[in-house]
Amino acid sequence: MIPEPADRVLLRRRLMRRGQDLAMKLSELLAGKDAARLVASLGVDTVGARPEDILRRALDDNEQLRRWLDQADPRYGACAICGQDFTIDELREVPWADRCRAHAGTAVAAH
Ligand SMILES: [Zn+2]
Repeated sequence: MIPEPADRVLLRRRLMRRGQDLAMKLSELLAGKDAARLVASLGVDTVGARPEDILRRALDDNEQLRRWLDQADPRYGACAICGQDFTIDELREVPWADRCRAHAGTAVAAH
């Protein structure tokens, strides 16, 4: 979906903040901080991946979403698997959502 301009400003700000947070966690991780705690705080799928890869992936996904939002690309705010649009309320809650409930935890092919 393509959010209204006022929402785009808000969502973008939150995506930027998440990107900074993820980048900080990645550097803490690489500096030897507690990996399990850092990754657990993300709320992302962690099965079978190294913590630094999980963080890099989350950072990449977050950047991609921010680009799509900036470009008013309808892939922002839609499930990466089935394409179903999220509601604006869902996006305000989780601006980096990229899976609908039915596809939460489903892997997607590379962007
Ligand atoms: Zn879906």
